Amino acid sequence: HAEAQGLKYCVFSEELDRETRERMSMESALRLSLAANALELHYQPKVDLATGRVVAVEALARWRHPVSREYISPARFIPIAEESGLIQQLGAWALGEACRQNKAWQDAGLPVIIVAVNLSAAQLHQPDLVEIVADVLARSELDPALLELELTESALMEDPRQANLTLTRLKQLGLQLAIDDFGTGYSSLSYLCEFPIDQLKIDRSFVMDLLIKPAAAAISSSVITLAHRMGLKVVAEGVETAEQLTFLERHHCDEMQGYYFSKPLPADELAALLRSGRRL
Ligand code: C2E
Ligand code: CA
Ligand code: CA
Ligand code: CA
Repeated sequence: HAEAQGLKYCVFSEELDRETRERMSMESALRLSLAANALELHYQPKVDLATGRVVAVEALARWRHPVSREYISPARFIPIAEESGLIQQLGAWALGEACRQNKAWQDAGLPVIIVAVNLSAAQLHQPDLVEIVADVLARSELDPALLELELTESALMEDPRQANLTLTRLKQLGLQLAIDDFGTGYSSLSYLCEFPIDQLKIDRSFVMDLLIKPAAAAISSSVITLAHRMGLKVVAEGVETAEQLTFLERHHCDEMQGYYFSKPLPADELAALLRSGRRL
């Protein structure tokens, strides 16, 4: 019996070892890529439901492993960046790059759009976050109204009082604030409205179930109504079908984002789409 247990432990620890090694090598590769400025941003359109026009884009980090040359999913490398403390550097880079890019699009005479950047919880706790954002805005010379920051509900709830203070100072810079992945946490909408936010993004898990689960439809439509009453704009993420679009249209959702309209695009392809004036 003892022998079997020893064996089990052995297999378990080998597995753990393999995982730890993989994580550590991934972390050092990511560190190298960051230092070499080798990450990229792709941009996914946010489409205005009333006009079909691209009114904003969400900047999403893309990383090719320097050795395997394969794209690693952010779902994998963002958590590694968060646990290793690299997220502050990655986040500051993403902010700077997104603002620089949007300013370049504006200077090229493309239609005016907002660029949205994801902030992780660790960045929200960074004491110099507001200075970093202010600095990025000043250096890029982007109109602050054309920058939006996306924060998850769970990031805000880690320390709501501190988060509220930070958000209030960020708002004073003149930018937009959005709550990301709304509905996946446990906070009520009325509580979230204590924060100075402009926009709510309904999580993809609800959008996915809109026509399958009555509860998802009921929650989504009441979130839209309530958010509107509180003066917030509502965006649905992960829209993949015409049926989902029709539902959201009928319930007066403001903006939509998802593969039905466009996947995230490299900067040059997004610029071509904007230049074409094509409605999605
Ligand atoms: P997120 O902020 O919820 O971003 C939306 C994710 O959904 C993106 O995945 C996007 O490509 C994907 N998506 C968009 N439309 C559809 C659709 O119709 N169907 C499906 N199945 N997926 C769709 P991505 O790019 O893999 O990013 C995953 C997550 O990684 C993001 O989730 C965000 O939390 C995080 N992330 C990405 N870039 C950054 C970054 O620069 N900073 C931080 N802190 N997090 C980032
Ligand atoms: Ca997001
Ligand atoms: Ca999201
Ligand atoms: Ca999501």
